[in-house]
Amino acid sequence: MRRVLSLFALLLAPLTTAVPGGSGSAAAQTTPAKPAPLAARPLSFDSNRAWEHLRRQVAFGPRPAGSPALADCRRYILDQLKAMGIAAREQAFDADTPLGTIHMVNVVATLPGARPERIALGSHYDTKLFREFRFVGASDGASSTAALLELGRVLKGRKLPYTVELLFFDGEEAVIAWEGTDNTYGSRYYVQAAQKAGTLKGLKAFVLLDMIGDRNLTIRRETTSTPWLTDLIWAAAKRIGHGHTFLDEPFSVGGDDHYPFLAAGIPSVDIIDLDYPAWHTAGDTLEAVSARSLQVTGEVVLEALPAIEKRLLAGH
Ligand SMILES: [Zn+2]
Repeated sequence: MRRVLSLFALLLAPLTTAVPGGSGSAAAQTTPAKPAPLAARPLSFDSNRAWEHLRRQVAFGPRPAGSPALADCRRYILDQLKAMGIAAREQAFDADTPLGTIHMVNVVATLPGARPERIALGSHYDTKLFREFRFVGASDGASSTAALLELGRVLKGRKLPYTVELLFFDGEEAVIAWEGTDNTYGSRYYVQAAQKAGTLKGLKAFVLLDMIGDRNLTIRRETTSTPWLTDLIWAAAKRIGHGHTFLDEPFSVGGDDHYPFLAAGIPSVDIIDLDYPAWHTAGDTLEAVSARSLQVTGEVVLEALPAIEKRLLAGH
């Protein structure tokens, strides 16, 4: 008890010295230097929570567009967002695919900021359909979706200068093969719908996460991505010691959910590790991914976001 009391006295000491009794210190008296309450301290990315989101998605099994398992996965995403107090809506549409019409549903979550203009963070949550083996997409689908949910929890606790939108896309994967329009159904629909509604011009930047679970994570600069946005993210990675994961080597992804945004003139970047031996194989399971990789990606996005906001506020 004594020890507690003396510690308390120590904590109070700077307060009393910071408020001198003399005149002319009204400002100091009205704004005492008291420690920030716990709730005001910034939250940090918690890979244990992200890992649980990843594990739960994988447990639904293969989750191709139109499947009951994907509907279960979507329900999980919506429930998690609701529990975090984040408003979300379903954006349903019928996609014309080589396998006929497939009902697809994007999930659009919104974190209101000081300005209505928004920055979007995205991921696809479907997994590619393979009939010849069981494909659960631990990295390809689940990892980025898991990170996005955890980013939502952290950002909910931040004061945001721009509104942040979390986009969970359905139908990124080809139902047969990645050619023509057999891919990126959800992101193409989102952009088209926003164009029609006149809301696309309020979207100032788009950051796509895809396949960020690889336990040997290496993220290269995707060359179709917008250079200034890529620069800010890679600089953020270096600042916090993740420069060995975010490599300066260039590579071109050849198509992903950021393409429709780029085509519509929205600055966009793809954070993706395609150098993944388990890609589109039965081996894309929990053993091939790690919580650490989710942590690295989450930290880099959180470090980069204020730099992106600053750049946008400066009117570039
Ligand atoms: Zn894929």
